[in-house]
Amino acid sequence: MTQDGSELKRMVEEFASCAKCREEIVEIGRLPASEFAFHWKPYARRGPPFKYVFLTWEPPSLTASDARGTGIEEGLVDVPLQFFVRTFLFAHPDDASFLITNMAKCSIKTDDICQRTRDRRWHYCSCYLKRELLIARGCRSQFTLISVGLLPRRFLERRSAILEGVMDPHSIYRITHYSRRCEARFSTFAECQRHDFESFCDRFRPQYQNFIATGDNGNFRCHKTAIGDFQRMFKWRDELRVGLQLAR
Ligand SMILES: [Zn+2]
Repeated sequence: MTQDGSELKRMVEEFASCAKCREEIVEIGRLPASEFAFHWKPYARRGPPFKYVFLTWEPPSLTASDARGTGIEEGLVDVPLQFFVRTFLFAHPDDASFLITNMAKCSIKTDDICQRTRDRRWHYCSCYLKRELLIARGCRSQFTLISVGLLPRRFLERRSAILEGVMDPHSIYRITHYSRRCEARFSTFAECQRHDFESFCDRFRPQYQNFIATGDNGNFRCHKTAIGDFQRMFKWRDELRVGLQLAR
């Protein structure tokens, strides 16, 4: 097993030419090529092996304009999640070793077809997911898998063969998905603990702003900080601290 990420890179190149979902799923086969052109590129930092792996997916969209705007950009990176992982899961942010990947390796717009074909796409892409997780684990005996939203965890628990030889499917953690659809869950949680939330914001705001300005060589600079960013991180910290040792 190589440790320099070349194996992961090779796999990403391989699934760029995979046509399985297009061949097997009728609704996708009917789509014009331009609507099925995207392949997910995982975000990898300091690995393999990685200490944490996050499983994301295209959430159901709220509106038609939402569907047009999201889900098809390559390497979509959630900035609050990036900061959260470095800050709360690692004592030293520079050591943060993690992978953010998608359940589907080929992605389509977050519309009705995306929803209806989700299970089948995840099924056909699962051979890549398994390979990816084995690469992610590398020589480590264990890594922590975190489902962004409930669906990846539920899918993997029900199809236990996918994680066979990788890890126990019942040991997957979960955080609330960062989609617009979940906004109310984050804000309600913060409002219920207003005092704690305010001190949380005061404590982490300077660090977060510095991260946006300088993190990943300035790649996050165009991100506009919003109160919602802090609401998410505040809830994620609560969701994970039950089972994991958080650094803060
Ligand atoms: Zn696929």
